Amino acid sequence: MNVHQRHVLRMLRDDGPLARGVLAKRSRLSATTITHVTAKLLSEGLVAEMENGGSASVGRPAQAVRLVDDARQVAGVHIGAGGVVVAITDLKAAPKAVASFAFDSGSSSPESIVERTASRVGELAVRAGARRLLGVGVGVPGPVDAGRRRALASINMGWTDVPVAELLEEMLGLPAVVEHNVTAMALAENRYGIGRHVPALLYVYLRTGLGAGLVVDGMPFRPGGHGAVELGHIQISSDGARCACGNTGCVETFVSERALMEAAGLAGAAPDNLLARVEPNRQAWEAVVRHLTTALASAVNLLAPDLIVFGGHLGQAPESLFDRLRAELPPRVMPHMRSLLRIERAGFGADAGAVGGAAVALDRFFYSGVLP
Ligand SMILES: [Zn+2]
Repeated sequence: MNVHQRHVLRMLRDDGPLARGVLAKRSRLSATTITHVTAKLLSEGLVAEMENGGSASVGRPAQAVRLVDDARQVAGVHIGAGGVVVAITDLKAAPKAVASFAFDSGSSSPESIVERTASRVGELAVRAGARRLLGVGVGVPGPVDAGRRRALASINMGWTDVPVAELLEEMLGLPAVVEHNVTAMALAENRYGIGRHVPALLYVYLRTGLGAGLVVDGMPFRPGGHGAVELGHIQISSDGARCACGNTGCVETFVSERALMEAAGLAGAAPDNLLARVEPNRQAWEAVVRHLTTALASAVNLLAPDLIVFGGHLGQAPESLFDRLRAELPPRVMPHMRSLLRIERAGFGADAGAVGGAAVALDRFFYSGVLP
């Protein structure tokens, strides 16, 4: 596909169906070019004429065209500490089939986890009837290399420089791309979810650790090519507990699954309502609110997000947490940022990570990539 075809596909993804005249006006391409582009996309089965476009003659400028959402598919993968979620999605990142499996971070090699992921993608593609799978997007728990082929490090999983894309490509015979998992979730909300048309979106994700991802003007913020925003490692107290990163008193020593499970007096697998279970422990709850506010205030002052999206345990937090943050965060940030602050729950619940991987794959292999 050429650059004009991809541009038209993105417009139809974001605001479609659109008439050819509108496509021409918005893209500043000539009507003739748009006619050629849509004819090509029609022949590929990627777009279709609207049936009730009010025009009897096919191909007239006023007749709207729409994206054929299921013309192609991608696989989205979320790798987190202890679990993998795989989804096959359409061209708007809507899951057609989802599967997951758990693993023991201590005893499973990265290669064995990628191998299980590949076999799950293969099975799921068959189950979803995905005959035109373009590629695989994988969200990994830590920074990635600039070429987005390798997971560089995950301190919570003990991974160092794992060639995830290369392994998957060998096993599946499909192209693969890797992204920091929270950045992938931020991208999905920006492209397909509650963060559409938001200039700067900060996604804050609490699971094993406290991670963040940022999308600015539609582009993942990837300083140094890495992608991870280490919100959990803002230091709260210089004489606090030792953190997994080697520092002491990081936010993550107070606001992490392990710390919260302890505060709630729980053992085993974390419940969905983990933060609500912590709330009755007033001392622990006040510490969570206070340290989270401090971390977010730093993030807001440094990054100036228009929207903060809460995912993972934060996405399932009681409304009282949102009330507290909406009241206590504004006085802690620069005056000009106070009126901009918005904090919302993530739109893609339990599948957020896999949908994130799919959004990364769609960006790479469809809307701004090349068809195989
Ligand atoms: Zn740390």
